[in-house]
Amino acid sequence: MNIAIVGGGPAGFAAGILASNSNNRVVIFEKNPEVLKKLLLTGNGKCNYRNANQSLDKYHTTYPDIAAIINPTNLKLVSDFWNNLGIIPIIKNGYYYPFSEKASSMKSALLKKSEDLGITIKCHTEITNIEYKENKFLVQTSNFTETFDKVIIATGSLAYPKTGSTGFGYEVAQKYNHHIVSLNPSLVQLVSNSSITSNWSGIRSNVIVKHIEDNKICKEESGEIQLTDYGVSGICIFNLSRNISIGLTKGKKEKISINFVPWCQSNFLEFLNNRHQELPNRNITELCDAFLNYKLLYAICKYSHINPDKSWDKLTAIEQKLFAQNLTDFELIITATKDYNYSQVCSGGVSLADLNLQTLESLKIPGLYFCGEVLDLDGDCGGYNLTIAILSGIIAGSAAKEDIYA
Ligand SMILES: Cc1cc2nc3c(=O)[nH]c(=O)nc-3n(C[C@H](O)[C@H](O)[C@H](O)COP(=O)(O)OP(=O)(O)OC[C@H]3O[C@@H](n4cnc5c(N)ncnc54)[C@H](O)[C@@H]3O)c2cc1C
Repeated sequence: MNIAIVGGGPAGFAAGILASNSNNRVVIFEKNPEVLKKLLLTGNGKCNYRNANQSLDKYHTTYPDIAAIINPTNLKLVSDFWNNLGIIPIIKNGYYYPFSEKASSMKSALLKKSEDLGITIKCHTEITNIEYKENKFLVQTSNFTETFDKVIIATGSLAYPKTGSTGFGYEVAQKYNHHIVSLNPSLVQLVSNSSITSNWSGIRSNVIVKHIEDNKICKEESGEIQLTDYGVSGICIFNLSRNISIGLTKGKKEKISINFVPWCQSNFLEFLNNRHQELPNRNITELCDAFLNYKLLYAICKYSHINPDKSWDKLTAIEQKLFAQNLTDFELIITATKDYNYSQVCSGGVSLADLNLQTLESLKIPGLYFCGEVLDLDGDCGGYNLTIAILSGIIAGSAAKEDIYA
């Protein structure tokens, strides 16, 4: 049997490895000069490929039963897959990386396994069309057409298009009447037109940050935030960005609230009052110097129209309250997210309702499979998206291997 895999990313490789046996000819088509371009960028080049915390709320889809695909049995397939490839993990706060801490080790392991299995890899080969005729697939480029018994679409999403993912898989899905759940950039920076951004650019701070949509608190994250001239970035922001991105598309009012002093267990205004009692001869800068980045202090003071050289007791009660509030509950209106050129993944995609979730085969066209980020399935930061890519590749590849017509 001839099996074509369109897309040489991690999902395509997992599918190819699982689809291979002595009866099958497996070809991976990749439009870039090299395969696995995006994989090399993951985890800042270290490849965070898995996470110890596998709670279902780390994964997102509009399909009502996510456990049909993300479940302990399936997740074990992913860890077995990497173990069989000889990947030894190093685990940091539950985040799995290859022991070498190099994404290139993952690439080498995938390439070596594919070579051992005799998988053909055709780079510089962009698939431009797929025609389904008389139970066969005509896979076309601008130069040639090849016929296959089965096709696995592993073309990725619209995120980070410079790595090759430009949405071809959605075209194929739509052509054969699969529903595409609306697409939005996810795991992406948030943009604000607040005047504070030019003053806080370059600061990193450990915070608690809440997502507020139409004045309702939706989700809370904690960790390091990066304050930039366009808005905010950092893992905790990425993990809020999915819902904010979708909300903005729907015209909802999106904001975040940042607590810059999450370590303060008591009322922060009281804390400042007490500190002033203990250290009476200090101005605001001196009073906060021990716990607040001076640049952030100046940005907050400027934004609050408060002179940082003043002594705490020279502020009015309203100014004191405002200062404390802007450090514990700084509200930033979000006007946009950065676009697909910056987003790590894409929410939405080929609807899981149009696929058999045991096989990821299309319910519309027999022999056509979808896997990886092209699916309406995405995850938080922390290795969840590579888990999805590998898991869905394993499911599609092992199902495609079986020749139902034999
Ligand atoms: C900067 C960055 C950092 C990330 N870090 C992490 C991380 O640490 N952990 C994690 O879990 N996830 C991470 N991700 C997300 C993760 O990389 C993706 O979810 C994953 O690569 C998706 O795999 P895929 O195989 O579905 O798609 P891709 O990796 O996008 O591969 C799709 C392939 O298909 C090829 N292709 C597309 N169309 C065609 C066509 N018509 N013909 C031929 N070939 C085609 C593309 O060139 C591409 O090589 C990160 C993403 C980015 C951008």
